[in-house]
Amino acid sequence: MAVYRNPFVTVIVTGVPGVGKTTVLGKVREMLEAEGAKFLIVNFGDYMFSEASRVGWVRHRDEMRHLPLLRQLQLQGMAAKAIREDAEKRLGEGGALLVDTHAVIKTATGYWPGLPEAVVKELRPDSIVLLEAPPEVILERQRRDKTRVRSDIGGVEAIRELLDMARVAAMASAVLVSASIFPVENVEGRPEEAASRIVELVKRLR
Ligand code: ATP
Ligand code: AMP
Ligand code: MG
Repeated sequence: MAVYRNPFVTVIVTGVPGVGKTTVLGKVREMLEAEGAKFLIVNFGDYMFSEASRVGWVRHRDEMRHLPLLRQLQLQGMAAKAIREDAEKRLGEGGALLVDTHAVIKTATGYWPGLPEAVVKELRPDSIVLLEAPPEVILERQRRDKTRVRSDIGGVEAIRELLDMARVAAMASAVLVSASIFPVENVEGRPEEAASRIVELVKRLR
């Protein structure tokens, strides 16, 4: 039986657009740097976007989920492979890889897995964090953040449905590689609390 594990701790941080993954992982970075830990934090969407913009498919990152599924699939597969290669090069043995990404993507043709079998078996997470907040709070964060275009995600009810989809998608992915699901609340005004919980998780997995 294959054991899907890396020689370094691997944590995938998921959550619906605007819940605060990138913000919380910024705090995780500060905490791990202060401890002198060996780690690598990567954003899955950055890998996809650098390729998608290079080939002229999109101008900004929020356009990618509107591309035809086949193109998203190609970008997704490329990103997973590149992240694994970068992590193997940068970390080798030990340390921790944290991946900022999504368990589900809301596309024009339906809810689409962010961590399908090929991707989750490439990344080999020990644990998948489900970063959550109430749908009303997420909507407010999306509206406040003028750097991104998240209006296609919809209103409170649409976000509630996406949160449900994100939970089931994360568990489905976890089952494929025997990863744990670790829910973390991103409390308004206190992203460092969520970051501390993720740092504790990494330490327990080590
Ligand atoms: P995406 O999936 O679209 O990249 P994300 O989950 O990475 O979204 P962020 O960009 O980190 O979300 O956060 C969205 C907005 O919410 C930002 O303006 C950020 O400053 C704000 N935010 C994040 N966490 C909190 C928090 N705990 N309290 C208040 N505001 C927050
Ligand atoms: P983010 O900044 O995290 O929202 O990432 C930008 C975009 O990259 C997302 O809106 C998706 O279109 C895409 N993306 C990120 N992670 C994945 C994934 N695991 N699978 C498919 N698309 C992804
Ligand atoms: Mg982000």
